[in-house]
Amino acid sequence: PVVTRIAPSPTGSMHIGTARTALFNWLYARHTGGKFLLRVEDTDRERSTEAAVQVIFDGLSWLGLEADEPAVFQFARADLHRAAVDELLARGKAYRDYMSSEELEAERALARAEGRVVRSPWRDRSPNDAPDRPFAVRLKCPQEGETMIDDQVKGEVRFQNKDLDDLILLRSDGNPTYNLAVVVDDHDMGVTHVIRGDDHLNNAARQTLIYQALGWEVPVWAHLPLIHGPDGTKLSKRHGAQAVSEFDDMGYLPEAMRNYLAKLGWGHGDDEIFSDEQAIAWFDIRDVVGAPARLDWAKLNHLNNHYIRQADVARLVTLTAQIHKSRDWPLRDADLEILARTIPLVRDGAKTTLELADNTLFVLKQRPLELPEKILGLLTEETRARFARLRETLAATPAWTAPELEATLRAFAESEGVGLGKIGPALRGVLSGGSPAPDLAGSLVALGKHESLGRLDDALS
Ligand code: GLU
Repeated sequence: PVVTRIAPSPTGSMHIGTARTALFNWLYARHTGGKFLLRVEDTDRERSTEAAVQVIFDGLSWLGLEADEPAVFQFARADLHRAAVDELLARGKAYRDYMSSEELEAERALARAEGRVVRSPWRDRSPNDAPDRPFAVRLKCPQEGETMIDDQVKGEVRFQNKDLDDLILLRSDGNPTYNLAVVVDDHDMGVTHVIRGDDHLNNAARQTLIYQALGWEVPVWAHLPLIHGPDGTKLSKRHGAQAVSEFDDMGYLPEAMRNYLAKLGWGHGDDEIFSDEQAIAWFDIRDVVGAPARLDWAKLNHLNNHYIRQADVARLVTLTAQIHKSRDWPLRDADLEILARTIPLVRDGAKTTLELADNTLFVLKQRPLELPEKILGLLTEETRARFARLRETLAATPAWTAPELEATLRAFAESEGVGLGKIGPALRGVLSGGSPAPDLAGSLVALGKHESLGRLDDALS
C-alpha cells in the first residue's frame, strides 16, 4: 500500500508551497487507499520551538489535511540515525573521515581549482592510521557511472557519480546529517512515495545512494515545481501572503484553498471547481505538470466566493462573528441570529469572509446610526416628508418578506409619482448608515420590521 508523508521543518510559519505539497501527498494517499503521514523535521533545535511545531499542526488541521498517524519527530530519532551509520561502517559502505578543518579547507580549494568534487584521503586509508581526533562519517559513493532518478513529475533525471562527493552522514560533533535522517526516517515509516518540492531533487540523488548502500528499496520520487508569484518569479513577500495562516486571516475558506492549491500544478481537464471526493478520484501524481505554477488571486477569489455561497450558514455565522469580535465590535447574543438571517442575503458578493463580515456590519449597528454627511445631505424636507409617509406604509405591510416589501416599495414610489431611484439612495443610507448592504427589500428583511422602522424614525426626528 502507498504511504506518503509531509516532512516540514518548523520555521514558525507554514508556507503555501508546503501546504500544496501536503495536499498532493494527501490526495495521492487517499486516491490509492494508502496512508498520509507527518514527520516534523525538528533537528534545528533553536527554531523548533513548541510554538513553531504547533504552527504546522494548526496549518494542516485548518487545511483539513490531518495525518493518519501521530506525528514522527526527527530529532528524537537521532540514535536510530546513528545506528544506521554504524551499520554502514560495519558493511564497509561508509568510512570515518579524519580530515581536520584546515585539511578540508585546502582540499576544497584544490578541488575547485581542478574542477572536481572534494575527495577525502580517508576513503582508502586504513582506519589503523587514524589520529586521535573527532571524525565525520562519509558515504562511500560510487565514483563512476550515474545515479538516475526516475521522477514521476520530472521524468528521468541523471546525475554523474563523479560529480557527487562522498556525502557526510554523521558530522564530527556526532549529529546525523539531513540526508541520512530523511532516508532512515522514510524507510522506518514505510514511505513508498516521496512527493516534495523540486528544491530537493539533488538530495534525491544523494538519498538514492544511501538507500542503495543500506540495501533498502528506493521510494518513488515525485518532485513538484515551485509556486511562483503572478509575475512568474519565485513567490516572495512582495507578492503578498505566503503563509497558510495569512490566507486564513484574509478570509479564505480551507475548502477553497484545497481546490485552488490542487489546481496549482495539477488539474482535471478544464474543471475549475471540484469537491475533495472528485479530486481524490481523479488525482494522479503523474499528471502533475513540470512547469512552475503561478499564484492567481482572481482565481482564488472566484473559488472562495463559490465556497462562501455554498457554505453552511451556521458556520459562516461563527466565522463572521469571530471577525467582528477581532475588530472589537461589541457582539450581543442576539446578533448571532441576526447574522444568520443576513448572511444568505449578502454572501453572493463576498470574495472572502472578511468581506462577508463587512457586508453584515450594517445590520449590527446600534440605533441611532451615525449618518455620514453625504446621506444627511439627501434628507431634504421633501424626502423627510416622503419617508414619514413611507413609514406608515411599511408599518402596515402585512408580511415582512422580500417579495412583499419589494411590491410595497414599488407601489409606494408609484403613489408618490417618482421612480424608486429617487427614494433608493436616501433610504439605503438611512437603513445602512453608509455601510455595504443588500438591495432595499433585502436590507429591510435583514433588519427586521422593528429595527427598520426604528431607523426610519431616527432619521425623521
Ligand atoms: N524538511 C524538508 C523541508 O521542509 C522536507 C524534506 C523532504 O520532504 O524530504 O523542505
